[in-house]
Amino acid sequence: ANKKTRNAIQFYSQELKEASHRRIDLEQALKLAIENDELLLNLQPILNLKTLKIEKAEVLVRWNRPDEGIVMPSEFIAIAEKTGLIVPLGKWVFNKAAEYLKQLERSDIQIKLSINLSPMQVMDSSFFEFIKSTIERQQVDPTLLELEVTESSLINDYNEVFNLLNSARGLGLSVSVDDFGTGYSSLAYLKRLPIDILKIDRSFVQDIATDANDKAIVMAVIAMAHQLKLKVIAEGVETQEQQRFLVDNECDSAQGYLFSRPILFADFVKLISSQWQSS
Ligand code: C2E
Ligand code: CA
Ligand code: CA
Ligand code: CA
Repeated sequence: ANKKTRNAIQFYSQELKEASHRRIDLEQALKLAIENDELLLNLQPILNLKTLKIEKAEVLVRWNRPDEGIVMPSEFIAIAEKTGLIVPLGKWVFNKAAEYLKQLERSDIQIKLSINLSPMQVMDSSFFEFIKSTIERQQVDPTLLELEVTESSLINDYNEVFNLLNSARGLGLSVSVDDFGTGYSSLAYLKRLPIDILKIDRSFVQDIATDANDKAIVMAVIAMAHQLKLKVIAEGVETQEQQRFLVDNECDSAQGYLFSRPILFADFVKLISSQWQSS
């Protein structure tokens, strides 16, 4: 190889080495992150599009590494899934969410919290017992908790998933399908699975103000969901044009930077309190 190619190859393998070091570093540190209390939750408001009030918040995990600052889930959720650490991590998230819900209830704030579940958690047969005992121990209202599952969870082992979602709904929790439209599952599960809500993925919402295909898709999803007695949440709403289109087409709720980014619990409480005082 000439000098230029050789340099390029060296550079490339150097990058690969750094990337794999980073992965190994994260993997090892993540094992201790829970014990060392380095995880935290942000809450992102979800607004009812009729009233424009916050009715719910999605719980999103972050990792605050002492020397590095905030690490985003795009960097560590996949690693947690690969190593199985997602199981204890997911339990930590659920427990913390229940704790926050209790604090909201104590302040007389009735807001639902929705929690992301990875496919591996949905397949974990001990997870339901964990949910149940956590709700009992924390004494929270289960109807204020929602589980977000992705389409890829739904096409896994059907019976396992069905049992978990069905039992959770039996307790009073609701279930939403996250990132709807991005998975490669069939529509058939929509009528068979115990679900309450579809969350339309941000990739469809992004261009609804301008793209005729995205308009058509979003309108069709809303109509279908309503026929199936499901509610619809639009994800990633960033502009007023997008909001207007969603309102005009009777989308139930929306979430996105237009309304608020994911924020700390204390800031969320302030935001909610100011909303309730102004109403
Ligand atoms: P997701 O469940 O689809 O969550 C929504 C993501 O979109 C969040 O990213 C949120 O900050 C971002 N988002 C919200 N509104 C907007 C917007 O208007 N514009 C743009 N560009 N983005 C917006 P985040 O917090 O980085 O989370 C990324 C993903 O990590 C989540 O996607 C979810 O799949 C996963 N995740 C986060 N927390 C958890 C968790 O506790 N457990 C599991 N299993 N996965 C989690
Ligand atoms: Ca989600
Ligand atoms: Ca989503
Ligand atoms: Ca997503």
